[in-house]
Amino acid sequence: MNAKVWLVGAGPGDPELLTLKAVKALNQADIVMIDDLVNPAVLEHCPTARIMPVGKRGGCRSTPQAFIHRLMLRYARQGKCVVRLKGGDPCIFGRGSEEADWLQQHGIEVEMVNGITAGLAGATNCGIPLTLRGVARGVTLVTAHTQDDSSLNWAALAQGGTTLVVYMGVAKLPEIRESLLVGGMRGDMPVALIENASLPQQRECRSSLAAMHQDALDFKLKSPAILVIGEVASQQQQAAIAISA
Ligand code: SAH
Repeated sequence: MNAKVWLVGAGPGDPELLTLKAVKALNQADIVMIDDLVNPAVLEHCPTARIMPVGKRGGCRSTPQAFIHRLMLRYARQGKCVVRLKGGDPCIFGRGSEEADWLQQHGIEVEMVNGITAGLAGATNCGIPLTLRGVARGVTLVTAHTQDDSSLNWAALAQGGTTLVVYMGVAKLPEIRESLLVGGMRGDMPVALIENASLPQQRECRSSLAAMHQDALDFKLKSPAILVIGEVASQQQQAAIAISA
């Protein structure tokens, strides 16, 4: 049998948002390597597996990525069923493709399982449709955090007319605000700041581009949170409220 690793999305937090395919992979797992943002409640699907936390707080602070790669390789070569479980979707700011490439280069078969990404779940749970006929013709997922400090083309994003969903943006609110304002976005553009999306402790703060930094401070916004920036961020559809009530 070929050595194989499953790269699995655990979804945004709510264990009911796990896919059936993820549950199946967890059921078969001998080893489950989990990131910080994975809700431990999903581990009920792999009661006999060995659980290895490998997130930043999981004890591999120095060269985490190389360490994780080697662990996956070692266990897969031992014939173990390895599941690499990541928050949200493995390929949305999750380094899923990096890990898949590396494993494949080392002769390991990889199977990727999608998860529901935090931005989509957060918006839905707050009653925000990320696309809306006549209002938002698209949605752009971006991160404000880059390894090399390179900058996004914020002016293009400001003028693109799509809803922006920003990941890892909590510490960068002043820069995001400034860049979008300079790029031509209106100061009263609606913004929703959504913390702990899909979890019982989910909180949301509605604001505007101009006010979002001060509002986030007053609200004591903490990571993990996503920002939804665009006309749709003023929406609060009843369906979502009824479901979460
Ligand atoms: N692969 C993940 C994203 C990992 S990057 C996904 O698809 O969701 C980490 C960032 O994701 C956090 O800084 C935050 O911006 C966002 N995030 C992850 N889980 C979240 C949650 N439950 N609520 C709000 N934001 C979340």
